[in-house]
Amino acid sequence: MKIKKFGGTSVGSPEKMKNLLRIIQTGEKQIVVLSAVAGTTNSLVEISQAYLAGDKRLAKQLTDTLFETYQRFVDELFSTEEGRKNGTDLINYHFSIIGSFSTDLFTPVEEKVILAQGELLSTTLYHFYLTEQGVRSVLLPALDFMKIDDDNEPMVEYLATHLKPLLDGKPDHSLFITQGYICRNFFGETDNLRRGGSDYTASLIGAAVEAEEVQIWTDIDGMHNNDPRIVKGTTPIAQLSFDEAAELAYFGAKILHPQSVFPAQKYKIPVRLLNTMDPSAPGTLISNTSERGKIKSIAAKDGITSIKIQSSRMLLAYGFLRKVFEVFERYKTPIDMITTSEVAVSVTIDDRRYLTEILKELEVFGTVDSISDQSIICVVGDFSYQSHGFSSRVFEALKHLSIRMISYGASNCNISLVVDTSDKTEALRSLHNRLF
Ligand code: ADP
Ligand code: ASP
Ligand code: MG
Repeated sequence: MKIKKFGGTSVGSPEKMKNLLRIIQTGEKQIVVLSAVAGTTNSLVEISQAYLAGDKRLAKQLTDTLFETYQRFVDELFSTEEGRKNGTDLINYHFSIIGSFSTDLFTPVEEKVILAQGELLSTTLYHFYLTEQGVRSVLLPALDFMKIDDDNEPMVEYLATHLKPLLDGKPDHSLFITQGYICRNFFGETDNLRRGGSDYTASLIGAAVEAEEVQIWTDIDGMHNNDPRIVKGTTPIAQLSFDEAAELAYFGAKILHPQSVFPAQKYKIPVRLLNTMDPSAPGTLISNTSERGKIKSIAAKDGITSIKIQSSRMLLAYGFLRKVFEVFERYKTPIDMITTSEVAVSVTIDDRRYLTEILKELEVFGTVDSISDQSIICVVGDFSYQSHGFSSRVFEALKHLSIRMISYGASNCNISLVVDTSDKTEALRSLHNRLF
């Protein structure tokens, strides 16, 4: 069984949706995971924000505009009267849900119902299209098997036990289609795996069915050696280890959802990043194998706040770091990076929701400073202690910039640095010129 996930741009127009046929009509057993049509989730976020702000008129106006886009989509996607009728009934149904909320009873629960409509629309439209084309497919409702627990962690075993019967119930079918991104939460409500979460869905399903391979089809020919949105002349990387891919995804390489590597890694399922616009391009293979003696790629993550706690009491005090970490744990705020000295510890976070409370509690330990608008620059490659010269090249490239924190030695495959976000672009370009 293969899992093939197609992102928003890969289903972004009727023509692109039709073109997927050449990638999926291989006869092999596969589960196709689809994102919402490009732009849809952003529009649904805006509609929800209008509801949350109590502006029903704006919500309606935005909903109508999105509906018109889908009317044109349906007109172009289907070639028969019956296909168009099914498509029209479908969009009428989903848009009646989007339009059905009242502003005074609108909470994050209703918001998640709205956000789910994008993937429900794209998958059912595609299933109808395949039916019109005479291609047999089974539509699997992700809300029946994809679930997160009370810590918002996906439940792989639940997924396996609920998905397998659906697959086994259709032994003579080879093509299954399901929604990325959406799931049910602990309370059984509609929820999601956060923005970009369809990659995560694909990897989780891959783990649950112990797939032969997970393919992430997108609009670029694999993981590049730097952020192509910022740096010119980036090139694809043929091969990455799970650890390397996880670091890059977590530290800003948008091509992969930050958590999507872990399920595949745990169940040893290779992940291939492929380009829908150029299906024969080799892309990137992510597996257990790591190529030594190379710098692979650079990524950056914005929205970082760094917090420094200076304390004379840290001197010789065991248990000090535990107490510091417990503050973050109480506020369920993950720490991204940490550096220590005898008298100070610095950490970074990207979730600022409880920043005021966290700072207040940390003040018990000493002097606390925090600074926002920081970026983590992450360089991934062979940074094992036997390798020589790579770190010095990194510092050489950044010698004209101010570096706030440096993390090296935790894993063999990366070095991370914190800079002001205003220096990020220069840091990425300068590293690119020096390292590649
Ligand atoms: P999809 O909609 O298919 O999920 P995304 O927009 O989420 O696609 O991810 C693909 C995009 O990720 C690319 O178009 C590219 O601009 C961006 N990107 C950022 N960093 C990298 C990188 N290192 N390699 C490749 N693409 C990257
Ligand atoms: N449609 C969702 C988003 O835009 C999920 C995804 O595309 O992976 O974030
Ligand atoms: Mg994505």
